[in-house]
Amino acid sequence: MLDLIIVGAGTAGLSAAIYATRAGLSTLVIERAMYGGQITVSPEVDNYPGIPHTSGAELAQGMYQQAEDLGAQFAFETVESVEEEGGLYTVRTDAGTHTAPALILATGAQNRPLGLAEEQRFTGRGVSYCATCDGMFFKGRPVAVVGGGNTALEDAEVLAGICSTVYLVHRRDQFRGEHAQVERLRTHANVEFVLDSVVTALEGEDKLQAAVVENRKTGEVRRLEVDGLFVAVGQIPQNQPFAHLAETDAQGYLKAGEDCRTSRPGLFAAGDGRTKTVRQLVTAAADGAVAALGAAEYLRSR
Ligand code: NAP
Repeated sequence: MLDLIIVGAGTAGLSAAIYATRAGLSTLVIERAMYGGQITVSPEVDNYPGIPHTSGAELAQGMYQQAEDLGAQFAFETVESVEEEGGLYTVRTDAGTHTAPALILATGAQNRPLGLAEEQRFTGRGVSYCATCDGMFFKGRPVAVVGGGNTALEDAEVLAGICSTVYLVHRRDQFRGEHAQVERLRTHANVEFVLDSVVTALEGEDKLQAAVVENRKTGEVRRLEVDGLFVAVGQIPQNQPFAHLAETDAQGYLKAGEDCRTSRPGLFAAGDGRTKTVRQLVTAAADGAVAALGAAEYLRSR
């Protein structure tokens, strides 16, 4: 019988698996796609303590291998529903059913769309949510990045080395992302900051040809002739199958404090899917450790 099920094999889930197995818990990690989560598409990770330079994929591979070597089991299945009865969590997937008395939800978040009328039609035809994945399709061409967080800044940096022009469109004149990264971007002659501006329309026939942007302060409207538009405006938590199990906030994040405990005994939330202020690799890894040790303590005290 399993002691613990972890849903999600991103940084938080893999860190939880490492700590849970080291605490002697029989642990199953369920992941619907590739292990590693969001970090796998980051080409450079320079802010993980003790590892000055690595790639997201390399880091993810290391975490997965470490968890597997320690004895964590993995099931690459899609979770369809989760129920709790009599202190036992039943996780139904597209391949079967798994049960355990403790559950860690570490399913992270997915990309938020801009919500423009033509956005879906142009997705894969100019609109992308992953510069690392799709940047090379726009080699030598003009593109725009939308957003002011670390993802947008990183995307602009990657694209500056590939594309002829990169317009960085942000709705304010202050960036949420790291100051050092903003300064680095300013050194690229082919990056133009388009601040206080929002994209209001996308234009093109079969493929994207232009993004219409409006300056929110002056009302000025500009038509940026771009082949690509990279949307990096944050994430939406992926908690839908679990939302009924515990309290969530208005955005759908599972309410849990620094101890990662949700409103339901035995149910923990770790990583980007829980309420928190800093969503970073290190905080996801920290959550995994806290949730796993919390689960071990919960199981001991039952
Ligand atoms: P984020 O930090 O939430 O930033 C989202 C950005 O998009 C903000 O600048 C926001 O503007 C803007 N935005 C939101 N909705 C918008 C809309 N409808 N239209 C236009 N702009 C909109 O998201 P993120 O950049 O994806 O980062 C998520 C988390 O991962 C963060 O904690 C980040 O630090 C972390 N991360 C870390 C690394 C790294 O450490 N290497 C890399 C990538 C991401 P406002 O600022 O005006 O709200």
